[in-house]
Amino acid sequence: MEEPAVEKISEATQEDPFQVLIATLLSAQTKDAVTAAASARLFAAADTPEAMATLTAARIEKLIYPVSFYRNKARHVKQACRQILDDFGGSVPRTMEELLTLAGVGRKTANLVLILSHASQNNICVDTHVHRIANRLGWVTTRTPEQTEHALYKVVPKKWWPDVNLYLVTWGQNVCKPVYPRCRACVVAAMCPRRGVKKVGRA
Ligand code: SF4
Repeated sequence: MEEPAVEKISEATQEDPFQVLIATLLSAQTKDAVTAAASARLFAAADTPEAMATLTAARIEKLIYPVSFYRNKARHVKQACRQILDDFGGSVPRTMEELLTLAGVGRKTANLVLILSHASQNNICVDTHVHRIANRLGWVTTRTPEQTEHALYKVVPKKWWPDVNLYLVTWGQNVCKPVYPRCRACVVAAMCPRRGVKKVGRA
């Protein structure tokens, strides 16, 4: 199956923390193809915090359009670059606490940077796919991604923590889709209680 856009960007940039951070910011509520194209345009114009901080918000908006919330994201990108330069000596911070001080960065983005770029074995990155599928599979019973993250630490064996995001996002984009999951073609159907699934897609 095709890997998620941020995973591909991480591999292509040798896990560069800055590009993983920015691509993850752009990816929120945005289709992978759009994230990939927007990231490529933005990094072609500037691929370091120093260079990106010199771009105006309007220029960043143009480069990343049509990602969702491109105006807000452009402001966050510019502000986060400034913070990295002013508060962290030009390097993306390596702790959850510090990452959460950056503009636009929540636990999902921070966890993904820690896992992909800082090789953390102690984090689970939960986005909308991980939240949805962990509940459908009956691993957790939660209402928000943050609740899911904390619940997963209790039920997923630690050796899998860094892989949960890659596996479930890939699964969610290809099989266990948000609407009309492909349960009839799903290889784990016999083990899945399909909690909350009302309608399924074609095989
Ligand atoms: S059986 Fe359906 S709900 Fe369960 S993991 Fe497969 S696609 Fe998702």
